[in-house]
Amino acid sequence: MTSLRVCATYPFLNEAKHYVQKEGATVHELLTDPLFEQARIIALERIENVMSKRDVGNRVLSTDADKIMELFSYPLARMIAVSINDDYFLRSYALAEAVHMYQNLLKEPLPFILQVTKEFNLTILHSDEQEDPSLYFTQYLAHAPTRHKHWKMVNRSMANGFISLPKKDLVRILQEILRKRIHQELMARSPHREVLSVFTNEISRMQHAILIQRKKHEAEPIGKLDITLLPPCLKQILTLIQSGENVSHIGRFALVAFLNSLNLSTENILTLFSKAPDFDEERTRYQIEHILGKTGATSYKPPGCEKLKTYGLCPSEEIDDICRRVYHPTSYYRYKWKQQKKKTAK
Ligand code: SF4
Repeated sequence: MTSLRVCATYPFLNEAKHYVQKEGATVHELLTDPLFEQARIIALERIENVMSKRDVGNRVLSTDADKIMELFSYPLARMIAVSINDDYFLRSYALAEAVHMYQNLLKEPLPFILQVTKEFNLTILHSDEQEDPSLYFTQYLAHAPTRHKHWKMVNRSMANGFISLPKKDLVRILQEILRKRIHQELMARSPHREVLSVFTNEISRMQHAILIQRKKHEAEPIGKLDITLLPPCLKQILTLIQSGENVSHIGRFALVAFLNSLNLSTENILTLFSKAPDFDEERTRYQIEHILGKTGATSYKPPGCEKLKTYGLCPSEEIDDICRRVYHPTSYYRYKWKQQKKKTAK
């Protein structure tokens, strides 16, 4: 029997879901009954923490009442997140719940973490003789959070198809799975009418805050780059990165090498990448500097249209007249920049 503390801290676990179902509270009761008022307050706190802390936040769980309200705040927060009706926010919310789990799981003993891996359908090997558990390699490949050298298979020890992982990395993989799972689940839902009416002010305030943040980002001058002049291929890659989507190595490479060709500094490039909800400064800096040749490797030239097409990175439905005249994204940018300069000179 899972404890109430575990259910409150890890409300996505099956046992926690059963607890909520067993209580039999309707959505209407959750939204209006004074009994759940504290759960509604915490749900809003979870939501507000997404933008400010990138983690839904911890609260004191000293009494059973604290734990029950914390547990019920989770379905409420999910409903509010869906009703905000913004995909960027939904991704950020999914990440904040997953980061919250990560931070808490790190404090748990390994046997508990192994229990959680079962709920995530991971195939794990672990025995008393092994210090670290091992994960089946196909699952490792599917859920490794980044392509950073730390996560490359060649840098791991593998035996009989199982990759040995320290506790921290196993928990990081769980974070990645939970993030994707929550995002997919919530993407499939529509805003709830009663949630919209109960939390009208809070939802509008959040939507407004997201809008302001987006405008602030768009208005920020970034070195010598004018984002509006980017060709469709690079605009698409940048949008995907900023919304936390996994972009292939060649996609990231094409963008960074292009920005470098405009003489943008590493700091300016980092600013662009920092809009991603799962931004990791150290890892991104390493990737950028590697491409720019600052870590001892060669500095590479940005790929041309032909290569981008081969890798499926040229969005054929979005190419325009300028695309039809050029063979390289830098020529596209230069052409558009000259056109704009002529216009402003008139
Ligand atoms: S034609 Fe070239 S510049 Fe235009 S979107 Fe495709 S790859 Fe980019």
